[in-house]
Amino acid sequence: MKKLGQIYEGKAKKVFSTDVPETLIVEYKDDATAFNGLKKGTIAGKGAINNRVTNYLMQMLEKRGIPTHFVKELSETETAVKKVAIVPIEVIVRNIAAGSLSKRLGIPEGTKLKRTVLEYSYKNDELGDPMINEYHALAMELASYDELRKIDEYALKINEILGAYLKDIGIELIDFKLEFGRLADGTIVLADEISPDTCRFWDVKTGEKLDKDRFRRDLGHVEDAYREVLHRLMGE
Ligand code: ADP
Ligand code: UDP
Repeated sequence: MKKLGQIYEGKAKKVFSTDVPETLIVEYKDDATAFNGLKKGTIAGKGAINNRVTNYLMQMLEKRGIPTHFVKELSETETAVKKVAIVPIEVIVRNIAAGSLSKRLGIPEGTKLKRTVLEYSYKNDELGDPMINEYHALAMELASYDELRKIDEYALKINEILGAYLKDIGIELIDFKLEFGRLADGTIVLADEISPDTCRFWDVKTGEKLDKDRFRRDLGHVEDAYREVLHRLMGE
């Protein structure tokens, strides 16, 4: 597969077209941003770790019935994916209160939620990814009713599968963000990434944070924490 021109550069990844129809290459960067781009930095080795963690988890989910955009890992930081039209909704799934939910609702971080919470944000950097509900999503035609049902179903199923999988390697899945896209025929698949950049992972025993909060909150040892997640998943 030949890598052609860059079609997009985001905060954490670059996207390239290829000579294979409907296939793109994503390249993971070491750049890190937080607070809607206000805090910027670099985490050495992050691109390679997030590429491998994402691909490992997407293949694991694929085996368990979740369709994803994953095609093939091409290098340490590059992966071929199916081209999708991204549904401009960030789907956030929460098991334990943390981050913006704790701040907004005054629920202390670490409080187990009585049931899983599903949130949507409108994926729009200029507006700072504002939280929306299903009525907004439908009124703005971000997705159809049937697509939202499918997206909710996948998000909750991913939470079940991933939560149990991570528990076995001593990681508590606190919350995470998903993006979905439409293939050319309209099929909804999981896209983007699942990594310590987009999830909160806490060590089951010590409560130590193994995710981007180490960068957001200047806790240090960011790369070590990301590498620990990779190590627990893949034993390397
Ligand atoms: P951001 O755009 O938030 O800065 P990234 O730096 O991660 O995020 O950029 C990657 C971009 O590629 C995101 O906008 C994401 O929605 C998009 N994307 C992810 N997977 C696919 C895919 N399979 N097809 C098309 N676009 C994708
Ligand atoms: N998240 C993300 N991208 C975003 C916003 C959130 O990946 O643009 C993830 C974040 O890493 C966390 C979860 O979604 O795992 C919930 O984030 P929260 O709403 O608490 O926001 P934050 O604390 O990141 O401001």
